[in-house]
Amino acid sequence: MSAERNQVGIIGAGPAGLLLAHLLAQHGIESVLVENRSQEYVQARIRAGVLEQGTVDLLVSSGAGDRLQREGLEHGGIYLQWPGERHRIDFHELTGKSVWVYGQTEVVKDLIAARTQAGHEIHFEVSDTSVTDLETDTPKLSFTTADGTARTVACDVVVGADGFHGPSRTSIPQARRQTWERTYPYSWLGILAKVAPSTDELIYAWHPQGFAMHSMRSSEVSRLYLQVDSSDSIEAWSDDRIWEELSTRLGIEGWTLDTGPVTDKSITPMRSFVSSPMRHGRLFLAGDAAHIVPPTGAKGLNLAAADVAVLADALVEYYRDGSEAGLDSYEERALQRVWRKTHFSWWMTSMLHTSGDDDFDRQLQMAQLRYVTSSPAAATSLAENYVGLPLAVRSVHQ
Ligand SMILES: Cc1cc2nc3c(=O)[nH]c(=O)nc-3n(C[C@H](O)[C@H](O)[C@H](O)COP(=O)(O)OP(=O)(O)OC[C@H]3O[C@@H](n4cnc5c(N)ncnc54)[C@H](O)[C@@H]3O)c2cc1C
Repeated sequence: MSAERNQVGIIGAGPAGLLLAHLLAQHGIESVLVENRSQEYVQARIRAGVLEQGTVDLLVSSGAGDRLQREGLEHGGIYLQWPGERHRIDFHELTGKSVWVYGQTEVVKDLIAARTQAGHEIHFEVSDTSVTDLETDTPKLSFTTADGTARTVACDVVVGADGFHGPSRTSIPQARRQTWERTYPYSWLGILAKVAPSTDELIYAWHPQGFAMHSMRSSEVSRLYLQVDSSDSIEAWSDDRIWEELSTRLGIEGWTLDTGPVTDKSITPMRSFVSSPMRHGRLFLAGDAAHIVPPTGAKGLNLAAADVAVLADALVEYYRDGSEAGLDSYEERALQRVWRKTHFSWWMTSMLHTSGDDDFDRQLQMAQLRYVTSSPAAATSLAENYVGLPLAVRSVHQ
């Protein structure tokens, strides 16, 4: 076993861990980055695909956004739909901002390339990851490398960017942890298909048979979702059945859904989850390690990016000035944004998914959909949340 020293230990090479390592490297701050999966696996993991303007600006200003600028699709709005009606929410007009369609797989590839090209290592396929001595000035990150070498690295700070199932959150003593959770009584069946999108912008469709969504990853690849029962298995959904159901739920007169080969399909549960504290001693949590939102508002990846933007700022300040002010206020700044997006994601989810046969709920959903598509004030509220609020949520009275 070898004893080593590094400035920042980062667990997880998902978007949060990779982006943090990249932002720190820009300021000459060194990090050791460990990931329990292989590089091929993390680069192929199909997940999010809508980036807020703030996330795009961060990637571009950090030098990791060249391909995103070339290949990303800028969208100035979304469509909201229910049987017989399709309405556009115009983000440009309402907020002056837009969102970008660019797969999480591509963000991850770009960040891995940036780190590798800068000559910094990512330890893929590690095992036995653990953190200790969190309440001292030198927390330790331990792991076993792919070739079986056990390593312990003493750091100034360790960051848990290891997603919902990683070990960081549970390293915080149970007595200190508080969690808030909502599990929705439905899941999302998502497919990736080799077919040009049948729409120029994302369609969010309310339908009595359940929510459906038409998204995309590029001009040749479509991403589509169906609300399914939480107990459904993917085997029960043949490709033909999926396309038929998508055509019904997304259908509107004068429009057809083009179909193509399905290259990936999976079912994901819908959950809202927030865990506090996001800091314990010298351990900081970022991204899905601390919070999960249902994907309806396209916020998970953007929240992860926002966390690490705040944390990177705080660490730069710490190494530059010796000040811990930014580290001390990290949780408060991050959590304000987390709860705002938790609310928005819950609100979008509740407005668009059917649950049981409660006609009262359905009438409320219709009333809300008509309101957000007809009132500029309501549409602006949806639009500004969708394109992303500024990093620090400030009081309107300031
Ligand atoms: C199945 C799934 C589907 C999703 N689909 C969508 C979607 O369609 N649309 C949308 O907007 N959002 C979606 N999301 C949300 C979005 O992808 C996440 O919010 C985003 O990935 C968060 O990034 P992260 O870096 O915080 O966490 P993650 O991406 O989860 O990264 C955490 C990393 O830590 C690694 N890790 C875990 N344990 C260890 C360990 N012991 N040692 C070392 N490394 C470890 C993991 O392998 C992983 O690479 C989805 C999320 C999931 C889980």
